[in-house]
Amino acid sequence: MSSVLLVKNIGLMLSGALENPVLDADAILVRDGVIDSIGKLADLDGDNADTVVDAAGTTLCPGLIDSHVHPVIGDWTPRQNQLNWIDSYMNGGVTTMISAGEVHLPGRPKDVVGLKAMAITAQRAFSSFRPGGVKIHAGAPVLEQGMVEEDFKELSEAGVTLLGEVGLGGVKQGDEARKMVAWARKYGIQSTIHTGGPSIPGSGLIDADVVLEADADVIGHINGGHTALPLDQIRCLCESCTRSVEIVHNGNEVAALFAMRTSMELNQPERIILGTDSPAGSGVQPLGILRLISLLSSMGDVPAEIAFCFATGNTARERKLNCGLLEPGRVADFVIMDRAQHTAGKTILESVQLGDLPGISMVIIDGVVRCTRSRNTPPAERMAVAS
Ligand SMILES: [Zn+2]
Repeated sequence: MSSVLLVKNIGLMLSGALENPVLDADAILVRDGVIDSIGKLADLDGDNADTVVDAAGTTLCPGLIDSHVHPVIGDWTPRQNQLNWIDSYMNGGVTTMISAGEVHLPGRPKDVVGLKAMAITAQRAFSSFRPGGVKIHAGAPVLEQGMVEEDFKELSEAGVTLLGEVGLGGVKQGDEARKMVAWARKYGIQSTIHTGGPSIPGSGLIDADVVLEADADVIGHINGGHTALPLDQIRCLCESCTRSVEIVHNGNEVAALFAMRTSMELNQPERIILGTDSPAGSGVQPLGILRLISLLSSMGDVPAEIAFCFATGNTARERKLNCGLLEPGRVADFVIMDRAQHTAGKTILESVQLGDLPGISMVIIDGVVRCTRSRNTPPAERMAVAS
């Protein structure tokens, strides 16, 4: 039997799509976790809905995607020895996470058979374990010297779809990285490269020349993780290739704004995607993606509805995910939010442009309500209610 969810009384619908960020609609019908139709309530066939969510005139946007996390196992991070961090991020509106490598595993194997085994284990474990319902794309091996084409073929056949940040392992030279990134791409494995100075003791510098030579799919934390490259090198990265420009919360904020402005000047806003690069030395940030949206919108003078696209539709498109956009056929991952109580902004968009965070009143993943009032955001002025 199919399950039907209707969300009605949506005051503002953010689509996640740069080309049309605000939809003229007030309701969404979801069937078996997938968006069936979007429109005016009177035009949707919602009479038989099992669950009806009244958004109370507030804002609905696609679930946020964190393009850069470092999970290890379960809902635990050994880096800060913290439990339930993924569930906390869900309370910050994140419904999908992408691993940039399970690098914080104590005693992480660096031999080829060991790193492959670990990647496959992480891919399997996070496919079937979803804290708070969050979808975690994990199993991202870190490149080490001695890997051959057959290893990438084997990883791909075993279900691995991502590489961990290139440069975090023993492969740090551009030519060597380029060869392995190309093998990964040949077998359908997407790649990300560490950009900038070392993150923690043991990692190293990756400068613009190495990033360009390696040619990974995503210029990982172009604003450093945390130490950024000189701004002229960041400009060079934006101008010299067409790969995704990933901006992270745990990076240099001046460089973040510079990378965003440069991409906008180049008329390539669709390349901008957002991540937290956490858990890391800077800790765990349940509101990291929301904070980044607010930072880029307020300090960078970008309309808030555009900044939300960076964390939703852009990432979904660049990462080839079936979420992040409000379109029939896409998975029903939503965040319902309103202006935070007592913000100076008169609307939610104005409040974000003033540098405040929205208040989340409901998170829905695969058409299922995963949390009501967020335990982490400032309280929303008006609340969605499910019945
Ligand atoms: Zn990094």
